[in-house]
Amino acid sequence: MKRRHFLGLSGALALAGVAGYFSLRSDRFSERYLEEEADALIAQKAREAAQSGAGPYGAQVYEGYRGLAALPWYELNDQARLVLADESVPAAIDVHAHLGMNMLFAPDIDLTAQTDRVEYMLDCDATDPGCPLDLDVYINANFSDAALRRLQLMSLAQLFQGSGAAATHTIPNLLAEMDDCRIEKAQILPIAWGLPFGDALAENWIAAIEGANAGSRLLRGGSVVPGDPEAPEQLRALVAQGIRMIKLHPTMQRFYPDDPAMSSIYEACGELDLPILFHGGRAGIEPEFSHKYALMRHYEGAIRDFPNVQFVMGHAGARDVDQAIPLAQKYANLSLGIHGQGVTKLDQLLSEVGPDRLLFGTDWPFYHLAATQAKVLMVTEGKPEARYAILRGNAERLFGFA
Ligand SMILES: [Zn+2]
Repeated sequence: MKRRHFLGLSGALALAGVAGYFSLRSDRFSERYLEEEADALIAQKAREAAQSGAGPYGAQVYEGYRGLAALPWYELNDQARLVLADESVPAAIDVHAHLGMNMLFAPDIDLTAQTDRVEYMLDCDATDPGCPLDLDVYINANFSDAALRRLQLMSLAQLFQGSGAAATHTIPNLLAEMDDCRIEKAQILPIAWGLPFGDALAENWIAAIEGANAGSRLLRGGSVVPGDPEAPEQLRALVAQGIRMIKLHPTMQRFYPDDPAMSSIYEACGELDLPILFHGGRAGIEPEFSHKYALMRHYEGAIRDFPNVQFVMGHAGARDVDQAIPLAQKYANLSLGIHGQGVTKLDQLLSEVGPDRLLFGTDWPFYHLAATQAKVLMVTEGKPEARYAILRGNAERLFGFA
């Protein structure tokens, strides 16, 4: 009797354990997110780390953004600012930049202030020498654990007390860096978060750009809340205010790009001739529960079903770049924003997707503008037409950003 009771209890515990295991797993995984897809992300990170420096460009590790002055195209000027010194590099159009963010309770940022230096989200020049900056890995692999903690605190501060770093992500600071790097125009992309209040980045940034009389260099961008029935009307109103592109962010806005509820937004963008830049793929540093939204297979339906909309896959799919390449090869209305990809991967994109479908974007103020520009210069050395196309020509041709 005693023995049977014991067996019964342990059997029940074992069963409960197994049931718990499966129920946890079924929370994490579904047809939208398979266990092998989670495993593939872990494998991608490990493979990339192991192969850094073994590609055609060798080791590409610099001492912070200032360290990029060791490259042939850059130098430090007399104020120790990194500047593009090669006169032959075409003036660029950056299709993916932001200004300082403040949402919810966070006080407004003075976007017209100029400060001594920019505190990037990866603040690689805060120390001397700067943090090790590896250009041969996906760029967010350069965040140390401490830098990632700082990033998380900064993101929280942008919702509550306000972020001191974000207060340096201003219009004059961006324009000064654009001058340093010969970047003529930058597309400024807000995100509509769907918060109950304090959620007016698009309106605030449009007003700030107008107030600073910077509209010829900072192209106004918009965003809408996925699934919001008023989104098509909002898009029309934003176009009337001069926006040139919108950003949609599946992991931050928590939607599947192929959700039928998105159709009215895509239809409106088609009618308005408004390109959509998607945050593309899993970056690998966002909360894991949001990874399921950003698999490349969930973007395909939107790109396929709305052939009259120009889509840009931001970050070229980030850590899912290998699944973004076949999409770009298959669909003429999809270009890849190159921001984030390491130099070996960028070289592969150039040969497999081609120079006419790659767009220069920097994700400023996450990183210095030159962190992406330097990689373009490396992979297009001796290829002036490809260099022009990526840095400028494609944005002019596809979106009229002349
Ligand atoms: Zn972005």
